Amino acid sequence: MTALASSARDLGLRFLLLSFTDLFGVQRAKLVPLSAVEAMARDGAGFAGFAAWLDLSPADGDVMAIPDGASLMPLPWQPEVGWVATELTLAGEPMAQCPRRLLRQQQQRAAALGLELRSGVEAEFFLLQPCGELIADPADTQEKPCYDQLALMRRYGLIGPVLEAMESLGWGPYQADHEDANGQFEINWTFSDAVTTADRHAFFKVMVRSMAEAQGLRASFMPKPFADLTGNGCHTHLSLWGAPGTPRSGENLFHDPAGELGLSRLAYHFLGGLIAHAPALCAITNPTPNSYRRLAAPPTTSGATWSPAGISYSANNRTHMLRLPDDQRIELRLPDGAAHPYLLQAALLAAGLDGIERQLDPGPRHDNDNYAAPLAADQCPRLPADLGEALAAFAADDQLRRGLGEAFCTAYERLRARQWRGVANSQVGVEQRRAGLDA
Ligand code: GLU
Ligand code: MG
Repeated sequence: MTALASSARDLGLRFLLLSFTDLFGVQRAKLVPLSAVEAMARDGAGFAGFAAWLDLSPADGDVMAIPDGASLMPLPWQPEVGWVATELTLAGEPMAQCPRRLLRQQQQRAAALGLELRSGVEAEFFLLQPCGELIADPADTQEKPCYDQLALMRRYGLIGPVLEAMESLGWGPYQADHEDANGQFEINWTFSDAVTTADRHAFFKVMVRSMAEAQGLRASFMPKPFADLTGNGCHTHLSLWGAPGTPRSGENLFHDPAGELGLSRLAYHFLGGLIAHAPALCAITNPTPNSYRRLAAPPTTSGATWSPAGISYSANNRTHMLRLPDDQRIELRLPDGAAHPYLLQAALLAAGLDGIERQLDPGPRHDNDNYAAPLAADQCPRLPADLGEALAAFAADDQLRRGLGEAFCTAYERLRARQWRGVANSQVGVEQRRAGLDA
């Protein structure tokens, strides 16, 4: 019996969801009874690739989704069902545009340098009425709603069970709060290796949406659902550690007590890579037309958007694109709620590794209040103004493309360019919400 089938049996599961996240971040799955898991664990579950966002044609043969048993998690809200991440093959060959595979490949590139990316994500979300037009809680009206205890506890019936679910899965959840927009929440769990974090991030979105739906609510990770409220960020915390099996295994290589702010040269080169590739990275970190309503946006009713307007880094200061909050990690504040769990980590790692390989210098740190007194454009280049500009930067970034592989890049940009052409002149926010494109 395969390891997947026997773990599923030991967990008392009746069904498995064989799942993958397509290039637009939509979770696709087949529900498989336990009796059929044995064969599927070996051969995979078949999908018509054109029916998902994978840049395939209706004439292509079956995409086979091969499960990785290590990712198996029971759905805490439906414990007889297990979720397992898969990787995609076509005609017996691994597919270049499989997001999870792409991330594992970048992690292998890092491992060849003795490194392992560990990361954590802050996946903010709104709780909306089912129509998606209004926040769910009519009493959530404070001008500065962040950390509002009453509004948080009015959602205790959902947030409490989500925290318990994460605990049961062993993720190490440690806090939940009401965020800076009316109707907005964040739940944090402990960082880990980037593949595990990406699996959990993908699962988290499904879990929050499903558990909210069961209570008649709609959870939305859309980057900027309301023009006057703070948007949904997905801040990503990054550090490189000694890879398993190397002499420095388990050691945080970003930490150096002798370095500036306690961070190593390696950390600053990684930072240099993120800065150098930031415009192109936006095509992944801020992947939808709506994403560009969150960046460089006017202040919200709470007083601040908390999102970046340009490309700069700072110490413990949230008005810049990158924050160095302590001597252990880097926080990238650029990504938003539409960022793809696997592509996000893969692209950031590819950019950071390029910074290391070419020993890039991130330039000077700036500790100004970049909202009240913004830096001049030569010190803080602007970010792409829309998805079209981000895709142009992505098309022009040869180093990043080489790192990610041309086959993936071409497939990804073909789909996004089509999306951009389709909505460029429409009312992006409202129409995307209605169309449910807020993956
Ligand atoms: N929601 C803000 C954003 O769009 C971030 C708020 C925070 O700092 O947690 O990035
Ligand atoms: Mg937050």
